[in-house]
Amino acid sequence: MRIIMLGAPGAGKGTQAKKIAEKYLVPHISTGDILRSNIKNSTELGLEAKQYMDKGQLVPDSLVVSLVVDRFKEADCKNGYVLDGFPRTIPQAEALDTALNAISEKVDYAINVEVPDENIVKRMSGRRACLGCGATYHIQHIPPKTEGICDTCGNELILRADDAPETVLNRLKVYHDQTQPLIEYYSAKNILKEVDGVQDMKDVFNDIVTILEA
Ligand code: ADP
Ligand code: ADP
Ligand code: ZN
Repeated sequence: MRIIMLGAPGAGKGTQAKKIAEKYLVPHISTGDILRSNIKNSTELGLEAKQYMDKGQLVPDSLVVSLVVDRFKEADCKNGYVLDGFPRTIPQAEALDTALNAISEKVDYAINVEVPDENIVKRMSGRRACLGCGATYHIQHIPPKTEGICDTCGNELILRADDAPETVLNRLKVYHDQTQPLIEYYSAKNILKEVDGVQDMKDVFNDIVTILEA
């Protein structure tokens, strides 16, 4: 099962991708998490990517595509994966298709998690992230058991610098310009599925399971 999660920043792609990965036993591949881990470890890729991420801009396609294609080569990807935050541009989607075609594989579903812009800024200011394990919480909707501490690994939770309201507005603009065209791209391939992301997290997941098991 090869799944792509589409949606604005903060729509809940990561939250749902983790639940899909857990239920269907496929890896959750988040380009944002991979890039943040590179920044944390001060790799060359991390240093390059950080300049873009801090401004809410996209990291250049060439850097992200090779990172994802390398990740696919790992053994855990043989039964599929759920891609979160990739592709984010038409050239990335085309590069993904080319890479999959070469090994006679294809994407099964592109799931678009729909959340209107007006809900996004509020959601992002409440997001808290764990740089230890990639878990995500929300101070109101999905709080950790102990304030400021990750339930899973015990690391401290942070408010991502790029979740500041001004940067979120910039990311939303980038989303509409560069990522939203993917909805049409996958719709034309008849693999686009839409879910209402404003619902409670459990209801969003139920809708996704219904799609995957139809
Ligand atoms: P969100 O969870 O808000 O959707 P991500 O964690 O997926 O954000 O991404 C954070 C940042 O990492 C993006 O704003 C962008 O700078 C960079 N990034 C992540 N994935 C990609 C990608 N596929 N192409 C380009 N940049 C990316
Ligand atoms: P994305 O990966 O699309 O950027 P996240 O999964 O990180 O989005 O979710 C963004 C924020 O919204 C997080 O703080 C998360 O805990 C919270 N969140 C996710 N799904 C929901 C939901 N259905 N209702 C309310 N808050 C949610
Ligand atoms: Zn953690």
